[in-house]
Amino acid sequence: MKRDTITWKETAAVHLRAWKEIRQYCPGVFPAIFLYGLLSALSPYVSIFLSAQLLNELAGAHRPEILGKWAIAIIALTALLSLLTGAADRWQEAACAQFYRHKDKRYSDKLRSMDFADMDKTQTHDLLSQIRQNESWSGWGFNQFVGQMAYLTKGFFGILGAAVLSVSLFTASVPESAGRFTVLNHPAFLVVSLLLLTGVTVLGPFCKNKSTGYWARFSQEATLGNRLFGAFGFASSEQSRAADFRMYNQQTICRFYMEANRTFCHGGVMHQYAKGPMGAWAAAAGAVGAVLTGLVYVFVCLKAWAGAFGVGSITQYVGAITALSGNMSLLLQAAGTLKNNVPYMRTIYQFLDIPNTMYQGSLTTEKRSDRNYTVEFRDVSFRYPGSQLYALRHVNLRFKVGSRMAVVGENGSGKTTFIKLLCRLYDPTEGEILLNGIDIRKYRYEEYMQLFSVVFQDFQLLSQPLGNNVSGTLHYDRQRAGKALEDAGFGERLETLPQGLDTMLYKEFGENGVEVSGGEAQKIAIARALYKDAPFIILDEPTAALDPIAEAEIYSKFNDIVTDKTAIYISHRLSSCKFCDEILVFHQGAVIQQGTHEDLLAEETGKYHQLWHAQAQYYTK
Ligand code: ADP
Repeated sequence: MKRDTITWKETAAVHLRAWKEIRQYCPGVFPAIFLYGLLSALSPYVSIFLSAQLLNELAGAHRPEILGKWAIAIIALTALLSLLTGAADRWQEAACAQFYRHKDKRYSDKLRSMDFADMDKTQTHDLLSQIRQNESWSGWGFNQFVGQMAYLTKGFFGILGAAVLSVSLFTASVPESAGRFTVLNHPAFLVVSLLLLTGVTVLGPFCKNKSTGYWARFSQEATLGNRLFGAFGFASSEQSRAADFRMYNQQTICRFYMEANRTFCHGGVMHQYAKGPMGAWAAAAGAVGAVLTGLVYVFVCLKAWAGAFGVGSITQYVGAITALSGNMSLLLQAAGTLKNNVPYMRTIYQFLDIPNTMYQGSLTTEKRSDRNYTVEFRDVSFRYPGSQLYALRHVNLRFKVGSRMAVVGENGSGKTTFIKLLCRLYDPTEGEILLNGIDIRKYRYEEYMQLFSVVFQDFQLLSQPLGNNVSGTLHYDRQRAGKALEDAGFGERLETLPQGLDTMLYKEFGENGVEVSGGEAQKIAIARALYKDAPFIILDEPTAALDPIAEAEIYSKFNDIVTDKTAIYISHRLSSCKFCDEILVFHQGAVIQQGTHEDLLAEETGKYHQLWHAQAQYYTK
């Protein structure tokens, strides 16, 4: 498989953008990280330095009053720095927790604000689910960036602190009396030692980055492996799937797909690499670290032996150089991890950069108190994105507010598509839809949406109190919500609920939740549409879970409820629609008949006549 090359330039650009974005919606994160990085990097040096002074005094003049002062300074400063570091850590954790919430909100806001057609695409969901998988299995993406910023800061300040404490190791001269050891004063020796220490210090992280680089090289396989696990690993424990799993042994298929992907299995691609070069590089990184510690001890002890400094300073220099190498590793590894993070950031930006092309209208929809709206479809044809087939073909029609319109036709004839275009979830491929004579694309999208209350076939309620579901808000008009439920036919059931509008729906959030039946849920969804009180109310076969009698009841009652609104009913039960002023018959994406029930029934060769009689036999039996 061809692997992308990731450059340092791209690494910097991608993360600079992430930095700017995070700062915009979560400004506290980086100051908190920097403060914590600074304090946690410098704290160890304070104790290293003070302990060295104490030891030097102990090994030298050992004056009790000076020893006491150093001891008090060590205790006081260490305690103070621990407290400050702890406080900064809390601040950092709180800021990061806030950042995680904002990040998730950013994804859902993007999903909600993009063109519906894009949101509907498999690729979009694919991208989002890749992003979530990458974040949840190893924190790749934004999380990794924030995490590595903490290491970068700590590494940077740590190197500065160590450099300050170890300068004198290189500058302190061995006295002339040390004989052969005076060679340690030779500039060449200093240069060689510095080069050796730096080389070994850099070599460790280099090996480590080589090892972790395999995660970036296999990001696609790893993502797929995790997605399959996410999709099929937990499917059998989902309550909504429990019955199907038992009935159709679906675990066999799930297990097959999980096991067919061998990314993380014994003998799989990651296993091969862990056993091979990935593991070897990791082992080399460990070995290099050990060599470095040895070299530092040799160098420092040689100088101390020759009398360049006291015994106390040995701890200072060994501590400082070891910390220097640790922090250098931290810095380089963080940089390497950021480079490995690039493919994951690319996926995030591929999702966030999906353009919103649809919502560019600027006209405001007239808020007409007479609700006198006219809608016209002018030669509208439509193909779903990516599809070659027309779901609607040359639809021409016009209707005024206040009318009752029914849309009937066989499955797949285009009824739902017609509603989706009317509500501007999609724009027509050809032709135009006009509201009061103006193309609906010219209106402000949010305002245009306010004109419609739709109960879709696959509506969803939230596991929240009943009243909040109906109103869609936290604070609502209880009387209006109660009336909407009553009008939707839920009145009697409401009376049986001791907590009324405050009844929690479903059991997701507590045992007191009420499980409502499919039919009851549909009535609540209808009440929600009524509560919105929009000029157009559309029921897209929302009564499918109701028996024919309950459906007929709702529809006939609806006539009174919708008053001056325009009601559009989509139903496959023709008997429920016959009271409408106008009935549209859809067939293969086109409106093939239009008229009242009586007119259409009179056309004996027409589709409506055929459908009516096909259904009537069930009811007359
Ligand atoms: P109806 O509501 O009358 O059952 P639809 O409007 O849902 O019919 O569907 C009309 C046609 O459009 C069908 O052929 C259906 O397969 C197709 N279709 C519906 N939704 C999509 C979609 N999201 N992507 C592609 N094709 C779709």
